[in-house]
Amino acid sequence: HVQAQGVTKSFGSHQVLTGVNFTVAPGEVSCIIGPSGSGKSTFLRCLNALETYDAGTLAVNGQQVGYDYRDGKYYEWSNKQFAAFRSKLGMVFQRFNLFGHLSAEENVACALVEVRGINRSAARTRALEELRKVGLANHSHKRPHQLSGGQQQRVAIARALAMDPEVMLFDEPTSALDPELVDEVLETMKLLAQEGMTMIVVTHEMGFAREVGDTVNFFDNGAIVESGKPNDVLSNPQMDRTKAFLAKVL
Ligand code: ATP
Ligand code: MG
Repeated sequence: HVQAQGVTKSFGSHQVLTGVNFTVAPGEVSCIIGPSGSGKSTFLRCLNALETYDAGTLAVNGQQVGYDYRDGKYYEWSNKQFAAFRSKLGMVFQRFNLFGHLSAEENVACALVEVRGINRSAARTRALEELRKVGLANHSHKRPHQLSGGQQQRVAIARALAMDPEVMLFDEPTSALDPELVDEVLETMKLLAQEGMTMIVVTHEMGFAREVGDTVNFFDNGAIVESGKPNDVLSNPQMDRTKAFLAKVL
């Protein structure tokens, strides 16, 4: 369960998030669309505590991100608490961020060993299982440069899934891919959604948002200005800003 209320964030004098209100129920797929520079990535980064926020509340499964509240006061998390929290969220970026000198299997296994302290052979078994799920059982020995962009992105998804995340965050996972490689990644994400994973997906893929999204949220000027069922938001938008954006992308 993810909940944001009135989340704001400035970089210097530039207010990038102007009051984000957003809810994702367990097992839901929530798609975020909106123009470049509207604050979508910044919001995801606040959500997984890669970035601090200035005001408002942001909570994942009841836990306020970045702070503990006790005796009437807020206490900022320790580095250890931050690390523990981040390991509960899986993040997939536009760029795959795989280690170039490691095989696909090692890329998936390494966080299990380093962060979770799982022994190498158990980590290897788990890595192979996750790679099989994303359709890469026969590519586990390959290094990133021996894989296509779509395959690399699927390794990145497998790596995130191996950590048993409570929520998966995707930030334009297909926008760096050649067009013919987009579908295999979207298909992998669709399977994940069907398994009941809670997902937040920033995307320009309106077909995916329509088919797989439970909600579509239109982000503009640092806030979600319209949200609802994909068919309502995409086919019958109420706000002029949403209409103008969709007229450009659809
Ligand atoms: P895109 O669709 O292009 O990815 P976005 O909606 O993800 O855009 P953000 O990356 O969140 O937008 O950026 C929102 C604004 O915040 C932009 O004006 C950007 O320049 C600014 N910004 C983001 N990160 C920083 C930073 N670390 N320091 C200063 N400004 C930043
Ligand atoms: Mg972005």
